[in-house]
Amino acid sequence: MIATSMALIQLAGSLPLARAARTRTLAVNTIVSTQSPRHAKLSTVATPSPSRVSLADSRVLLGLSEPELQQVALDFGQQSYRGKQLHHLIYQRKVKDIQDFSQLPQAFRNELQAAGWRVGRSPVYRSVAAADGTVKLLIKLEDNRLIETVGIPVPDDKGLLRLTACISSQVGCPLRCSFCATGKGGFSRNLRAHEIVEQVLAIEEIFKHRVTNVVFMGMGEPMLNMKAVLEAHRCLNKDVQIGQRMITISTVGVPNTIKKLASHKLQSTLAVSLHAPNQKLRETIVPSAKSYPLEAIMKDCRDYFLVTSRRVSFEYALLAGVNDAVDHAKELAELLHEWEGGYHVNLIPFNPIEGSEYQRPYKKAVTAFAAALESRKITVSTRQTRGLDANAACGQLRNKFQKSPLLTDSDDVPSESDVAVAC
Ligand code: SF4
Repeated sequence: MIATSMALIQLAGSLPLARAARTRTLAVNTIVSTQSPRHAKLSTVATPSPSRVSLADSRVLLGLSEPELQQVALDFGQQSYRGKQLHHLIYQRKVKDIQDFSQLPQAFRNELQAAGWRVGRSPVYRSVAAADGTVKLLIKLEDNRLIETVGIPVPDDKGLLRLTACISSQVGCPLRCSFCATGKGGFSRNLRAHEIVEQVLAIEEIFKHRVTNVVFMGMGEPMLNMKAVLEAHRCLNKDVQIGQRMITISTVGVPNTIKKLASHKLQSTLAVSLHAPNQKLRETIVPSAKSYPLEAIMKDCRDYFLVTSRRVSFEYALLAGVNDAVDHAKELAELLHEWEGGYHVNLIPFNPIEGSEYQRPYKKAVTAFAAALESRKITVSTRQTRGLDANAACGQLRNKFQKSPLLTDSDDVPSESDVAVAC
C-alpha cells in the first residue's frame, strides 16, 4: 500500500540516483505496445466501453491452481491433462483469450466460452514511462474502474535485471492517509485475486521480462482485502513462480490482521508503514492509527517476526518539518529498542503530490535522520527517488482519469483531450 510511489520499492540504498524524470504518456489499447516503454509512441486511446458485467457471475481461469484447472477440464468431460495444458497456457504462455488456446480442441474452447469462462486479463488503458525505465500502468477492469501498477527495473550487482512489480489490492483506498493521493481519491471496491495477479503479468508483458519481486504497495490497504491478497499470493508463488521471499506485503496497520497474516507463516516480508515514532504524531499522519495503538502494532510485528522468522520492514515517510527531526529519529530508535531485533527501517523522503500539505525534506535532514538511527544500531536504508515518483505518486494518475470511485454506466473514462496528465 503506502500508496506510494512513496513506499513502494524497497530499492533503497543500493540504487543509482534516478535521472530527472521525463515522463511521457503512452496510450495503449487492449494489447500493450510491443516496443520498449522508452520508445513507445503516443497513440490515441480507442478503448471501447465494455458492457457492465456482474463480477460475481464471471468465471475466471486466472488465479486457479493446476488441480482446480484440472477440475474445470473434468467438468467439461475432458481428461485432466487438459487442465495442465490450461495451466501452461495461462501462466507460462500467458495467453489472454480462450480462443487463442491453440493446443486445446476448438470444441472445448467453444464450450468454455459458452459457459461464461474467460481468462481474466484486462486491457492496459494507459501507461507512463519515466526516463529511468520505471513504468506505471493504468489497467482498466471489467467494470471500467482503473487501477495502477508500477514496474521498476533495476540492474542488480551481477548485471541481471531485477524487475519489481508494485501492485494494487483495492480500487482506491478507504484509509485516507494524509499524504496519499490514493486515499484522497476515495474507495470503490476490493480487487479480486485474479485482478491482483494480472497486474504482475501485465508488467511482465510490457517489459518482456519476468517479474522478480512483488510489493503490495500500490493502491489500497492489503489487510482490508486479505482473502484475495492471500489467494493472489498463493498464485504468484505457485503458479507464476515468484519466490515467497521476493514478495512484500505492506500495511498501514489494521487491527487483528498482522496476527492473522502471521498464522499463515508466509516467508514473505511484512512492511509496516510507521511514519511516526509516537502515537500522537502518527494519528495526525495516519488517521486510521486511532483504532490501532502503536504499542499494539509493535507487539503484533514482534509476534510476526517470532512466528515467521522474517524481519519486519518499518516504512517511514519523511515529511519536512513534521517527522524528520533528529529527535524523531532518536525517539524511533528508542521505540525499536524496546522491541528488540527483527526489523529494518526504510526511510522514504516524501515527494509532494498535487494539493499536498507536506513538503519534501532537505537532503541533509534525511542524512541526519538516517545517521541518528545508524548510530543507535538500527538497520536503515533510504529509498532513492525513481523517475515516476516525482511526477505521479500512486493514485495520482488514476485520480486524473477517474474522479469518482462510484462509476455509473455513462461514466466511462474521459477522452484524451479531457485529461491533462501531469507526467
Ligand atoms: S490511504 Fe491507503 S493506499 Fe494510501 S497510504 Fe494510506 S493505506 Fe496506503
